[in-house]
Amino acid sequence: MTEFVVSEPVAVGDTEVPVFRILGRNPGPMTGPGTNSYLMGTERLCLLDPGPLDPEQLQCFLHAIGGRKLEYILLTHTHGDHSPGAAPLAEATGAEVVGLPAPDAIGQDRSFKPARIWQNGDVIDLGEYRLELIHTPGHVSNHICYLLVEESLLFTGDHVLQGTTSVILPPDGNMSDYLNSLRLLQERELRYLAPGHGGLMSQPQTEIANLIAHRLKRESKIVSSMQSLGASSIDELVLEAYDDVASHLIPWAKKTLTAHLVKLQTEGRATLDDSLWSLNE
Ligand SMILES: [Zn+2]
Repeated sequence: MTEFVVSEPVAVGDTEVPVFRILGRNPGPMTGPGTNSYLMGTERLCLLDPGPLDPEQLQCFLHAIGGRKLEYILLTHTHGDHSPGAAPLAEATGAEVVGLPAPDAIGQDRSFKPARIWQNGDVIDLGEYRLELIHTPGHVSNHICYLLVEESLLFTGDHVLQGTTSVILPPDGNMSDYLNSLRLLQERELRYLAPGHGGLMSQPQTEIANLIAHRLKRESKIVSSMQSLGASSIDELVLEAYDDVASHLIPWAKKTLTAHLVKLQTEGRATLDDSLWSLNE
């Protein structure tokens, strides 16, 4: 069992490059135990996903950094539970922020302004270790996973979570992109997945294959629900296609359902007409 201790750095994984998780003080239905921030390196440090604005958490980061140099603050994406803490941490340490600008969508942190334009495949070299940026759109369009090359450890942000599945919010969130971004990771040799929420995962390819299978299973349940219901609204469809989901999660299920329907529409398999979805086949 992974033990979560709020704001105390906890070493994760059997790695030579030190990687510490610092759990955010923001537990909740959407954040699980809280947002995971990760501090890595021996002397030249990087901190990934500082989380929401939280002066106490900032002090905790500064204490963990001590007299060493924080060189980069890495952002997986710009949701409010991941990126707003970057600006005060950058100001306090002089570190450069890394990530992609916020898209024009709800829940995005527009305060995030990277100094450079970062791209898929860029590598940050800290001497002791390297970090490769892997653009993984799907949860949101500006999502990046960071590969700690020397350890084959992938920081997955909200692309792969432990203990829950990520919400795909159209139109910026995109189910086709999400599945393609998961398939992209299947080509990589990975030893660990370090998620934005939940504990370290040590069977990366099993987790990724399960996630793809889970989404495709849901998609086929949606298709069979559409076959039995005929033209139907999101409200009707969600009760049938997500009949295994607790009622308080139905509003979120509707969003993910919409993401599946948009994917089916893009593939020419479904049509939206006057708020009613129907199958083309
Ligand atoms: Zn997110």
